[in-house]
Amino acid sequence: MMFASLARPKWMLTAAICGLLASCANGPPSVPSQKPQIGQPSVPETGPIVFKSSGNPEMDLWRADFADRAMGAGHPRALVKSLLENIRPLPLWLGNKVEAATAPSSQAEFAKPIWDYLKVPMGETRISGGQAKLAALGPTLSAIEARYGVDRQVLLAIWGMETSYGGFKGTDDAPNALANMATEGRRRTFAETELYALMTIVERGYARRDQLGSGWAGAMGHTQFMPSTYIAHAEDFDGDGKRDVWKSEADALASAANYLARSGYVKGQPWGLEVRLPADFDYGLSDGNERRMETWVAAGLAPITGGAFETGGAEYAELWVPAGHAGPKYLLFKNFNVFKTYNRADSYAFAVGLSGDAIMGKRGPLTPWPTHLSPLTVSEIRELQLALVARGFDAGTADGIAGRRTRLAVQAFQKTQGQIADGYPTQQVLVMLQAAPIAAPTGLN
Ligand code: CA
Repeated sequence: MMFASLARPKWMLTAAICGLLASCANGPPSVPSQKPQIGQPSVPETGPIVFKSSGNPEMDLWRADFADRAMGAGHPRALVKSLLENIRPLPLWLGNKVEAATAPSSQAEFAKPIWDYLKVPMGETRISGGQAKLAALGPTLSAIEARYGVDRQVLLAIWGMETSYGGFKGTDDAPNALANMATEGRRRTFAETELYALMTIVERGYARRDQLGSGWAGAMGHTQFMPSTYIAHAEDFDGDGKRDVWKSEADALASAANYLARSGYVKGQPWGLEVRLPADFDYGLSDGNERRMETWVAAGLAPITGGAFETGGAEYAELWVPAGHAGPKYLLFKNFNVFKTYNRADSYAFAVGLSGDAIMGKRGPLTPWPTHLSPLTVSEIRELQLALVARGFDAGTADGIAGRRTRLAVQAFQKTQGQIADGYPTQQVLVMLQAAPIAAPTGLN
């Protein structure tokens, strides 16, 4: 389960927290120096927890403040201490690579052409691995499907996407990963909320402190649950009394199924169907600008395989044209958006859908990818957006992501050039755009 939106500003150290740390460093030790004698009641520890330095002063300051707030909120001192006493700065979060590692531009979903992004999820290793699990876990998958109403190929695909079927569950400790995220600061509130959720997990006895393994952003187990997601949706499916998403495949898959079901998954409906478009199709209808199946049928859309659409009762679908008019086109159904509760990137949800189908023996897309075209990088999309706006086409904020508004602006520009207006932002479009004259300002006195 990835995260993406990074809110600034960076966490600022406050005088109050510095004052707190000073009291930590210089105040009297809060741990009794003598063991209580037999017959004497033990003296409960009070005051701030004294931690050994993490090796990073900013992390120490954050920890002193957060530990105090956590105890103030009623979390047991021993638990707060056990979660935070061994935190240490990770280079990914608190080294020089932070910007590079967490900026949207470096996330694979945004940086690669979609056909490159799909190579691993659609590769032989991943698909045959899914088929092996499909065969090995048949009865478990049937039981999960029956209880939660989530199709098995979806669970296998997500399991493959998240951890390669448990092969790469992450080697970090969730409290440490989240402490790093909190100290780094851009998602501090999120990280602290997840740390509180970890405390709840241990307090309720769902898992022990030493079981909280995670990936670099605090997502845990086979299907990479964030702690708050774990509390809300994790399941004990194998019946041993523990919701063990780390070691139990049945628990992890049932937990993912429960999460998807509660997010609105509709069993038996497709996530997407590859389609054939009629000549002179208006691409302005794509990206959610038209959604009724009856309109798509009336407009002449058909399944790429021929025949009638089998939607499992779904009446609405958006048209998605991920690589322009020369590439595959899809009608996307509600389940596609449900996949995005795991990761908001379209390319991620697409990989879940495609790899799930492939595990069941149905390979797609049938239309080849237009690899002769050169999709734009994030910074080039930003250039494109600025160039569109300068020429009077409303591309919205120059955020480097070719969303619906940007694609509509590209379509409007392509129409002025007599091109097929598919809205696909390529090098070819950018060059053409930069050669077009800048619009004169309008509406100004
Ligand atoms: Ca269990």
